[in-house]
Amino acid sequence: MADRKTRTFPIDDEYKLRVRYTYGWKKNCGNCDAPGPKLREIRIDGTLRGQEKLDALLHELTHFWDWRADEGVINHSATVTAHVLWELGLRFLDEE
Ligand SMILES: [Zn+2]
Repeated sequence: MADRKTRTFPIDDEYKLRVRYTYGWKKNCGNCDAPGPKLREIRIDGTLRGQEKLDALLHELTHFWDWRADEGVINHSATVTAHVLWELGLRFLDEE
């Protein structure tokens, strides 16, 4: 299934971001490596679907770009942004 693949994305000539789906978490929806390494990884709970998965991805991507951002602000902004994009029709093709 396409959404189960680990994917790596170039950030620039030096740095990369890898997104990986993981399983077996009880509570966390995702997490993100701290800044520093040239390859940083975001891990997302592979059981999430739809708007919840989008929320988790936006949340961890915000951490990726702004490591010092306030967790409460990230929670709120990711959830609202996921809701807006979902209501505007954004979907994961591999979930249909
Ligand atoms: Zn967070």
